[in-house]
Order: sequence, then structure tokens, then C-alpha cells
Amino acid sequence: MKRPWTKDLSKLNKMELIKLQKDGLTILDDIERFATAGFAGIRAEDIELLKWAGVYVQKPRTDGYFMMRVKIPGGIMNAGQARTLAAIARDYGRSELQLTTRQAVQFHWIRVENLPDIFTRLTAAGLSSVEACGDCPRTVVGNPLAGIDPDEVIDARPLVEKVTRFFQGNPEFSNLPRKFKISISGSVDNPGHAEINDVAFTPAVKEIDGEQLIGFHVMVGGGLAAKPHMAVKLDIFVRPEEVVKVAAAVATIFRDFGYREQRFHARLKFLVADWGEARFRSELLKLTGPLPTRGKDLTRGWNGGYYYGVHPQKQTGLHYVGLAVPGGLLTAADMEELAELAVRYGDGSLRTTNTQNVILANIADNKVAALLDEDLLKRFTPFPQSFAGYAVTCTGNTFCNLATVETKRRLTSIVEYLDKHVKLDTPVRLHLSGCPNACGHHQIADIGLQGTLLNIDGKAIEAFELWLGGALGPGAAFATKLEGRIPAGEAAKAIEQLLNFFQVNKGEGETFA
Ligand code: SF4
Repeated sequence: MKRPWTKDLSKLNKMELIKLQKDGLTILDDIERFATAGFAGIRAEDIELLKWAGVYVQKPRTDGYFMMRVKIPGGIMNAGQARTLAAIARDYGRSELQLTTRQAVQFHWIRVENLPDIFTRLTAAGLSSVEACGDCPRTVVGNPLAGIDPDEVIDARPLVEKVTRFFQGNPEFSNLPRKFKISISGSVDNPGHAEINDVAFTPAVKEIDGEQLIGFHVMVGGGLAAKPHMAVKLDIFVRPEEVVKVAAAVATIFRDFGYREQRFHARLKFLVADWGEARFRSELLKLTGPLPTRGKDLTRGWNGGYYYGVHPQKQTGLHYVGLAVPGGLLTAADMEELAELAVRYGDGSLRTTNTQNVILANIADNKVAALLDEDLLKRFTPFPQSFAGYAVTCTGNTFCNLATVETKRRLTSIVEYLDKHVKLDTPVRLHLSGCPNACGHHQIADIGLQGTLLNIDGKAIEAFELWLGGALGPGAAFATKLEGRIPAGEAAKAIEQLLNFFQVNKGEGETFA
């Protein structure tokens, strides 16, 4: 079928021309051939399309190693899946795993020769890396407490699964202008970070024909990066059985009307900003048919994506335990141990958060104390310090070709310093991104650091921009960038001074957030 955007090929960016020659999903048919030919035998265009298989070339591009991202829809996996991920990391990824800010899991150090076996193992475990990267619908994020959250309005797990199944490998949506991020949550605490997704479903209630119906409100066009946009709330109310239809309609609008001339301008947020709510809604309703207008929002606030400690579930006698995973970094042995603990103390499920941490669920009353006594919980503590437990960062220049700074080790040393020197009544969320693409979500942090370079005596050194005051939920606002840049080595002391100033000058009951 001829797509509208192919009318004038001269206006399309280079990636669009590659996608017109070959659909990203068809790269899956080439994996065996690439594995036999080796890295040097893969065309540059096919390296780009390998993103649809969930693999990116890692830094430096010439070494032939890949990063691989595996989707964990809604952040919920079982122990068998966790063990599969651990085994892949051990066999092919130097025993390292990273948790991402979209509840996914990443490996590094993957060779193209390893891909066929990795795909076989993932498929057998019911996991997939397909479309975890590329210009297509990415992993669907959600409430990591779905089904166990005492305050949950709707258990959205079946919807996360349905939407994932609808888009997964769907050739109708494999050529979008850029990535497409979906969030579905029935929680009152906005754990799916609705405002920074391309389309987000948040809980709502609407009276229709005298009946109080539970469903969703819909936000579109959110995203971070160099030009962050808050998603816009549409004046519609969506019943659970209509979620797939509405998600598909938003993706269809993005596919057919989204911008394809300049890559940086190709996200849905720019189209939504240009059209406004009314036009976007009108185009949406052409695809979905009539939908009721908005009802009452049931989002109460924003939990920042943190779940530390031991908490009662909606199921009497059961608890969930939120663990801090420093830097979102795990070894294969850590992941195996988590799977083992999930089986021994809970129902075998493990949940990942968009703050790069883990939750163990369904722990019976009489098993909580023994779980807290486990060795792994000394490192992955449920009771982290104020800064170490509230620090998020992206991969940085160790692996990412776009990064300007090293991130994981830097953030560790910054939070260690702050935990030693600054005492606060309430934790401060500190997020670091290695470049303006904002994978570390620094624009929604209390204190955000964005990697940059600073020229000192003719020499470029690693530095940070400082961003303050970001938050989502009711009253959402992006952080404000302060003037100037801080040499990376001085960031910890600069933040200490800032927080000391706050402590001295704060008003009664005022928190840094
Ligand atoms: Fe790479 Fe930049 Fe994203 Fe960090 S924020 S992972 S450096 S693209």
C-alpha cells in the first residue's frame, strides 16, 4: 500500500529511505546469515535496521559489539525469564545486565554470532527483544505493582499484554517516523510516567447512563530529550475494552501524519504541539468512532517510580518488598539470586521499575523477616540512603555512541559523597543523562545532571548542566536548566552547596521537591 509520506521522497531523511527499501522487521530473516557472515559482512543500512531486532552497535562502532534490549512489558517477569536473562548475560554479555528507565533489561558485549542462540532462548522463555529499539512501538510500561497494589483502580496487566501483542511484530506499525512509547497504568500514583510518553492511559471514572464506569483518560505527545514536551490530555474517556483500538489509532496518526524530514523533529510530540488537542482528537475519532468526553481523573499524585521498604499488598497477608539496585546494574549471579529469592519467598515473579530497581512480590507475613535477612538484600537494600536510593542514570559513554560523559561510576561517586555529607529529612531524586537525549530522565528529577563538555584552557573536559525542580503527576513541570556548566569532578560539591543553601533558607515544612 502506498503510504502518504512517500509522495515526495526528496524530503525524507536518510533513515526513511533505508526503511522504504527494506522494512525493519524483515531484518529478523537475516539474522542467521549475519551470524555466519560476521560483523564485517553486514551492510551499514542493515546495521541500522538491526534496531528492530532490539540490538544497537555499542561504542566504539568498529569493535563489532552490540547492546541488546529485552522488553519486560509492564515490568513483570517470572523467575524462569529472569534465569534466562541471567544465563544469556553469563554466556554472551560478560555477566552484566542493566535495568532501563522503561522497565526493560539490557545486555552489552553481544556479538552477531550469538544472536541466533539468544533469540532461541528468549522465545523459549516468552521474552522478546523485537522492536525494543527502532522506529516502532517500544516496550509498554506500566504499574510494577499491577494486581497487588492496594490503591489500584484497575489491574491493567491484561491490557498491557493485549497492547503488546497487538503491536509486537505488526507490519502495519513497523515503519513509524521514530520511536513510539506507550504507558498503561491503573494506579493512582502515575507510575507509568504518563506525561513523558507518546500515548498514556491513566485511570479515570465517568458516569454514563447513571452508571459509574471505570476506564482511562488518554494523554498524547509527551517526551523528553532536547525539546521536552508534556503530553496533552485528550477530551475523551476510554473503556478498558477500547484501549487497543485507541492506542492503534494514535499510532496510525503518528505513522501517517508524523514528520519524516528531520530525525530530531520526527517524534509525535511535535505533531501534537502543532495540531493542538482539538484537531488531534478530531483525527483520532475519525479512526475510533465516537468516544465519550473526559470523566473524573483518578490520578492522585506521583510516586516518582519508587517502592522501597516492605508494604502490604491488596491481598491480605502478603507483602511486596522494593529493593534498590544501585545504578540499575546487576551481574548474572545477582539476577539468578533474585529469581531464587522470588521463588523461595514469593510467587516467583520479579518486577522492574522505571527507576531501575526491582520489586519482589507476594511475600507471606511469616517469610518477610527471613527475606530481609538474605545476603543479597545487604547490597540491594529495601532501605537505601537518601541519595543512593534515589539516583537514576543512563548507560553513558561506556557503551553509548551519543554520550559526552561517563555516567554510572560518576553518579555512584556523587551519591556516595552526598550521603556522607548531606542529611535531609526527605530524599532528593537525582537523575543523570549522558547527553540531551535524556534517557536518565534528568528533566523530571529534583536535581538533574546532563552531560556536556567544558572548554578549559583549550582542553575539553567532562561537565554537567544542572537542572532543578522536575516532577510529574498533578502540577507536572520539567526541571529548569540553570545557567553555566559544572566540571564533572566538582558536581558533588556543587550539589552539596545547593542543598546546604536550601537547608538554611527553607520555609516551615518545605521539602526540596
Ligand atoms: Fe546515550 Fe544520551 Fe541516552 Fe545516555 S541519554 S543513553 S548518553 S543517548
